[in-house]
Amino acid sequence: MHAVGVDIGGTKIAAGVVDKDGTLLAKTRRDTDPQQPAAIEDAVVDAVAELRKEFPAIEAVGVAAAGFVDPGRRVVKFAPNIAWRDYPLRDALEPRLGTRVVVENDANAAGWAEFRFGAGREVDDMVMLTVGTGLGGALVVGGELVRGAAGAGGEIGHLRMVPSGRACGCGHDGCWETYASGTALVREARAALATDPDRAKALLVLAGGKAKNVTGPHVTKAANAGDPLAIEMLAELGRWLGAGMAALSAVLDPAVFVVGGGVGAAGDLLLVPALTELEDQLFARAHRPMPRVALAKLGNDAGIVGAADLARR
Ligand code: BGC
Ligand code: ZN
Repeated sequence: MHAVGVDIGGTKIAAGVVDKDGTLLAKTRRDTDPQQPAAIEDAVVDAVAELRKEFPAIEAVGVAAAGFVDPGRRVVKFAPNIAWRDYPLRDALEPRLGTRVVVENDANAAGWAEFRFGAGREVDDMVMLTVGTGLGGALVVGGELVRGAAGAGGEIGHLRMVPSGRACGCGHDGCWETYASGTALVREARAALATDPDRAKALLVLAGGKAKNVTGPHVTKAANAGDPLAIEMLAELGRWLGAGMAALSAVLDPAVFVVGGGVGAAGDLLLVPALTELEDQLFARAHRPMPRVALAKLGNDAGIVGAADLARR
């Protein structure tokens, strides 16, 4: 039977119907405000209702949430970029959807999808990085997802990369996601528009002439069109990714790092600098194979597909 996967990110939800082989059969999305948990729930209910018109027989709904999820997979304990604090997401949604609901961390869901059906299919040890509003991580070790004792395992976005660095939504500073995420990219783009308007001309046009309207996809679009500033901004983000990958290699030694999330759409503009930095910073490089760096095969749909698959188990 089919399951529905819902991916709740910082600025939008995406929901889809997924069959048991991980094929996405239908998809819809809603923009959401991260400060409005009740409105996020309404959007989930609305999106699932839309999907059910075409696919009435749904076995379960998997919800991928951008925060720490308790081991019982009911409660979002904390989300750095969404206003959830000890939020009983499963109990809130189950009666409204009238079906079994399973809540999972969004990056875990995406990583699980890549492991089962995508870029990690042929390995037992992989790390998934989802580069979106935040930086999410999924650790698959020996074929199993690592959730940790309290559900906060794999929160790699909060590895401290820079002592006394940029402030993070988790309450700390210098976290990896403040340098390697869509939010970091937008921050850099706005700064460039303010301090270097000449170099940032292409970006300003895409943002409709207003610096504050610039988005991550604008940067990717400008870079794909050959804009040197946008290319350099993505390369910088990529280097931050590679630096963190080198550190994680010392802990987990994965066969492959899979990169997904909205910013993952930049593809090689991100991955090539990441790989170069990883190669530069990998310890004992001469005595070990290089981990591979691969783009998510399921693209930005990985969270939907993984949440649906996990809900079925
Ligand atoms: C959160 C993670 C989430 C990631 C991606 C981070 O800020 O701590 O739970 O997986 O963003 O959405
Ligand atoms: Zn943090």
